[in-house]
Amino acid sequence: MKKYTIRDLQTQFPTNNACLDWLMKYFYPDGVSCKKCQKVTKHYRIKSRQSYSCDVCGNHVHPTADTIFHKSTTPLALWFYAIYLMTTTRAGISAKQLQRELGVTYKTAWRMFHQIRKMMSDDPTPLKGDVEVDETYIGGKGMNRRFVPSFSEKPKAVIMGMVQRGGKAKVRHVQSSGTRSLLPQIQKNVELNTQIYSDQWGAYETLPRLGYRHLSINHKETYVNYNIHTQNVENLWSHIKRGITGVYRHVDPKYLQAYVDEYAFRYSNRMSHQPMFLILMNRVQKD
Ligand SMILES: [Zn+2]
Repeated sequence: MKKYTIRDLQTQFPTNNACLDWLMKYFYPDGVSCKKCQKVTKHYRIKSRQSYSCDVCGNHVHPTADTIFHKSTTPLALWFYAIYLMTTTRAGISAKQLQRELGVTYKTAWRMFHQIRKMMSDDPTPLKGDVEVDETYIGGKGMNRRFVPSFSEKPKAVIMGMVQRGGKAKVRHVQSSGTRSLLPQIQKNVELNTQIYSDQWGAYETLPRLGYRHLSINHKETYVNYNIHTQNVENLWSHIKRGITGVYRHVDPKYLQAYVDEYAFRYSNRMSHQPMFLILMNRVQKD
């Protein structure tokens, strides 16, 4: 993957105008078809506003209208820089760090942070091929333990991961590690007939009945089948947990899904030919 460097960012987006021009070309690659004139007309930038005007009738076009930048008073160049920071920092960056880097208020940084994160949720394409599934606990003592041993401890949050080998990852914050929480996620996110690998957690035993091929790791077997493992999803867990201890320290359960989406995004796009910054730039348009 070719790295998108800070120098690339400075060259491509040196000013707010450059950012706005980029959005204009992105949304109107073949020129703007004016709604009033009913044809493609020349449009001029209006200096005082983030808009362009039809040369013939004066109708306005706002390239930020359907994007996350809509109605934001933060300069576009700062937004682009924030997206750059959140996609190039290996372990992720907190809203607090974003505040410091951008020189904006915490409130603004926090808002930007969550807007950008929203773009990191996975696309609805189901996983196929060889898929590893696993679930883990987040928060509190004994982060990895499957059973919550005492009432004195805070309840831990459960996340479940599905990783296509050589492909994308999806992570979901689920209610519990029980069958009813885990299996519907697989049915929603993994194509039928897919080969699934898991550990021997009982919840996954019914997978063949649901139309999946299933192999679980048996540590007692004399002959080890090296293909049966969940190393990719475990690798993702270690990134997520390192992020919590290192960057975020604590994740509010309310934001846990967005948090794990960010890590799944990084994982899913690690081999992409397109730099993550540009992948995200292609998602600035709101649904
Ligand atoms: Zn016009």
